[in-house]
Amino acid sequence: MKIFKFGGASVKDAEGVRNVLRVLKHEGFQKTLIIVSAMGKMTNAFENIVTAYYNKTNDLDQKIEFVRAFHLKIVDELSFTKNNAIFIEVEKLFGEMIGFLITNKSKDYNFIYDQIVGFGELLSTKIIGAYLNKNNIENYWIDVRAYIKTDSNYRDAHVNWEQTTANILNLDKNQLCITQGFISGCSSKNNVTTTLGREGSDYSAAIFAYCLSAKSITIWKDVEGVFNANPSSFENTQLLQQISYSEAIEMAFYGASVIHPKTLKPLENKNIPLYVRSFYNLEKKGTTVKKGPSLFPEIPCFILKEHQILISISALDFSFMVEYNLSDIFKILHNNKLKVNLIQNSALSFSVCIEDKFNNFRNLLVVLESKYKIHYTENVSLYTIRHASNEAVNKIEQKGKVLLKQATKGTVQVVIQ
Ligand code: ASP
Ligand code: MG
Repeated sequence: MKIFKFGGASVKDAEGVRNVLRVLKHEGFQKTLIIVSAMGKMTNAFENIVTAYYNKTNDLDQKIEFVRAFHLKIVDELSFTKNNAIFIEVEKLFGEMIGFLITNKSKDYNFIYDQIVGFGELLSTKIIGAYLNKNNIENYWIDVRAYIKTDSNYRDAHVNWEQTTANILNLDKNQLCITQGFISGCSSKNNVTTTLGREGSDYSAAIFAYCLSAKSITIWKDVEGVFNANPSSFENTQLLQQISYSEAIEMAFYGASVIHPKTLKPLENKNIPLYVRSFYNLEKKGTTVKKGPSLFPEIPCFILKEHQILISISALDFSFMVEYNLSDIFKILHNNKLKVNLIQNSALSFSVCIEDKFNNFRNLLVVLESKYKIHYTENVSLYTIRHASNEAVNKIEQKGKVLLKQATKGTVQVVIQ
């Protein structure tokens, strides 16, 4: 089997949906499974619904209507006949979502978040599946929540591989199948949705690929492939033609946003090649991630993480920062779900560059300041340079005030204010 994943940018409008059809016709769709993200920036729009609902602001209806109108416009532009079931399907999903908002009793933000944002993927797959069927590409729609099972760690759920594999192996492999990326089902609670983390659709595709021992995965993008830096923040970027799994894992780990970090390990374990290709230009080969040399061409790669917080922590009594303190600090960071992107330790102080995805930094400060001396700088940028050259590092150091720099073999990280 082969797996195709279409990201939000590739299905951001009716033209994008038509393009899915074109890709399938061009590439063939025998023994294929399609994973789709929410259309365009819809996950953000659903997040706005969650925020309005949670904070009880009076623009909730408006936020819902925005999302509804967005999808109805696309359905409209795809020229379905009036009696096509898709109109009812779309309204049914909105009915379900509003039903949840009305009956929900939970105050757990992360739980509510997961029950709502996944409607983006349910809608996109319903619409695209119906459009393909209408154009004689027969496919069947599955609810991924019945296949990928996870724990109840909302917004960053962990896969139960045993259950997931058993479910996925039951799929009919001979028919074109379409399903949702990003969302999953809670294994211990019926009808509860979980999500695999923002941008998690690549990971969903990898989960299916792994369980099905797929021949390949293709991630269809609105860019030509993986570049040595994000073209929206760097000039003169170059396409990487081939990347090894471990190099891609390193790049994703340091924050390259092209491929979701969890995606690669399952593929590496089964030696399944991953193609990143342009949705617009089907003649181009794009980037291949597979076993082989770490990088081709071998050039410096730049990864930027913005909105980081650099904290330096030292003991109140000027004692050394050693194992006991460090394990305490890590426990506090972990309890607050703060992601550590860089660590530097000296005898008297310990510095970490962290990312506050879940808005817990103030909580963290309260706890840390009760035990340690803290100095922090918010809103700094962390640059990572893989396959670094002096020239490449110099270029980054020009970008602002260097607060911290760390070099390991071939990888240089610089925190800049
Ligand atoms: N739609 C989700 C997001 O925007 C998942 C994904 O795109 O991979 O985060
Ligand atoms: Mg996306």
